[in-house]
Amino acid sequence: MPIKMRIKQAGGWLYLHSPRARDDLRGAGVILMLHRVLADDASAALPHRNELCVGATAFDGLLRWLPRHFECVGLMELLESQATPRGSQRPKVALTFDDGWRDNASQAFALLHKHQVPASIFLSTDYIGSRQRFWWESVGETLWGSHGEPARLSLLEHLRKLGRPVPAAYLLPGSEYRRSQVLAHYLQSLKGLDAQALHQLTDACPAESLPQAMDWRQVRQLEDSGLVRFGPHGASHALLPGLDDQRLDEEVQRSHAALQQGCRRPLPVYCYPNGDHDPRVRARVAAHHYPYALSTRPGICRGLQDPLALPRVGVSQRSASHPSLLAWRIARGGRA
Ligand SMILES: [Zn+2]
Repeated sequence: MPIKMRIKQAGGWLYLHSPRARDDLRGAGVILMLHRVLADDASAALPHRNELCVGATAFDGLLRWLPRHFECVGLMELLESQATPRGSQRPKVALTFDDGWRDNASQAFALLHKHQVPASIFLSTDYIGSRQRFWWESVGETLWGSHGEPARLSLLEHLRKLGRPVPAAYLLPGSEYRRSQVLAHYLQSLKGLDAQALHQLTDACPAESLPQAMDWRQVRQLEDSGLVRFGPHGASHALLPGLDDQRLDEEVQRSHAALQQGCRRPLPVYCYPNGDHDPRVRARVAAHHYPYALSTRPGICRGLQDPLALPRVGVSQRSASHPSLLAWRIARGGRA
């Protein structure tokens, strides 16, 4: 581990074990943001997966670590406690997962159940029970070679023709870690493409053996456990501020209706795709009877100053496997 990270780790450990931290966090609420849980930790640790993936071993360790320092509660309990904060309370933590990945059911749930830690999952509802794919996963893994060399070469050619060639540093021989780092940056740069171009890129990737997202049967099974609740994360995962008024309303309405139909007790909490929102988006989400919404702005909750832009703390494979790094992030108000 690089020296800078070791210092953060030590700082995080000291923070959680200092009287200052105990005072600082009393009554506070920490909403953690996760996406995927992979069976293999080494594979989750590669830079192009690190931010969105946590390995099962690291997740297991995180679920053992959290209750030592926080009261693990469901998201609604955390939000309700923040409405009338009491400084004497132990800090609360609530887990949230974005998108609705199939591995939330096949990997994460067994561990949540083992440790009896509740969680909320926010679904991009068009993907649930369909073979529609998240572009960054399909494009990223095809370029990484997870779907074979012919598929990788054909996508590289497609991107070159599109005027978005993959950087030479990725194509040259080098360490796996370094190449994964280049790929992570490159995938970030594709976020600027319009939805149609991203669709076409996804279509240029080979079909996967299993759908990426959960189906509604899995959603109901998880909900029936009493440990997991569900809320909307857009319908198509379109970034909401970029939509005109009509499409924005359709997107919120469609995701709302799907949750109403697919779940017994959907959450009154909206989760903005990519965390993107503006005053118009917040007003439309509120008009659809969502009193709360989750952003990706780093931070911890002390009261509910901004219920339609609640801050969260992201969990990566690195911070899940070294929870003192997560403590460091919490100490810095959610910043890395
Ligand atoms: Zn998302």
